[in-house]
Amino acid sequence: MSVSVNSDKVNLLNFDRKGLTTFFVEMGEKPFRATQILKWIYQEDVTDFEQMTNLSKSLRAYLKEHCMITAPEIILEQIASDGTTKWVVEMGQGNRIESVFIPEHNRGTLCVSSQIGCALACTFCSTAKQGFNRNLSVAEIIGQLYVAQKRLGEEKRITNVVMMGMGEPLLNFDNVVAAMNLMMDDFTFGLSKRRVTVSTSGIVPAMLRLNEACDVSMAVSLHAANDELRDELVPINQKYPLAELMAACSEYAKQGPRKHITFEYVMLEGVNDSIQDARALAKLLKNVPAKINLIPFNPFPNSAYLCSKAETITRFKDMLHKAGIVTTIRKTRGEDIDAACGQLVGKVKDKSRRHLKLQKMDLSHAI
Ligand code: SAH
Repeated sequence: MSVSVNSDKVNLLNFDRKGLTTFFVEMGEKPFRATQILKWIYQEDVTDFEQMTNLSKSLRAYLKEHCMITAPEIILEQIASDGTTKWVVEMGQGNRIESVFIPEHNRGTLCVSSQIGCALACTFCSTAKQGFNRNLSVAEIIGQLYVAQKRLGEEKRITNVVMMGMGEPLLNFDNVVAAMNLMMDDFTFGLSKRRVTVSTSGIVPAMLRLNEACDVSMAVSLHAANDELRDELVPINQKYPLAELMAACSEYAKQGPRKHITFEYVMLEGVNDSIQDARALAKLLKNVPAKINLIPFNPFPNSAYLCSKAETITRFKDMLHKAGIVTTIRKTRGEDIDAACGQLVGKVKDKSRRHLKLQKMDLSHAI
């Protein structure tokens, strides 16, 4: 692995198969060089161009001079009592993101970040409090999978990827799509499309474009069944209200043989967990092939909410079941290392200066 960062060199981890093919064709090489390189990198674990023996000598020399294969570096690893592993990954200039590996008996899921921080201001999420710095590149997204699998070794395979780490994946559309296509490529990790999930707060235009670009599973962070409450919890709702969001979900589900969209719903005590809320939710999802994933709220310092009581969550689930919607309660994993949903903070140099605005807001509350 090359660790020196030379910005003049092209990082080949930034290309999916299509991009890599264009890259080689434009330099006068055969298109199949793309799959050869992908195999070397992702399947043979070779990053030294000299060792890529099926490439001509001159091509190897060219690649050595102009290209690099550089993944971001893990700088901290924490393993929770339940085996959940969190890595802090260095992205340069004081920025760090987090990826989380969640082992289960029949699969291993990697939760991948798409941005450094997040520009959305969901009130119950600690990443939101960090502000936003920048989008991650394709290399930095696929690199999380690449370094995680390397770190885990042969016995622990990553079988599933969820784009549920830091950031809003659909606001980094091109890079996230290229990285997800790369994960599903037979010459890299070969993950099946059912095992790659993009989670969105509801960026409607991007949801409508996604189907063309990339065939993956979709999860939508819903959290409220009426606009008034959703405007508050997930402020992007003010731009793309529920009617538009539901229409985009139906559209996405219609294309192709996908059976459902997963709706994530964080359980906040006294905020969105009443019987009426459950009824409204069932009504809202009546015409969409839906599964619901209830997420017990994970607290973080200065968070303004409490998690709903266990019996409230069970009652909520039962109501939805009765309404005919498959509903699961997400098991909280990695709590003791702050690796659970909404607890990922990394280290973000906020460029949006939103934290200043937040501070102001907090002050006005106090007055
Ligand atoms: N921005 C994307 C990707 C983040 S996914 C999205 O909104 O879907 C992370 C999931 O965890 C989302 O469903 C998010 O709403 C949820 N989440 C955020 N903060 C949480 C918290 N404190 N407790 C539980 N779930 C949380």
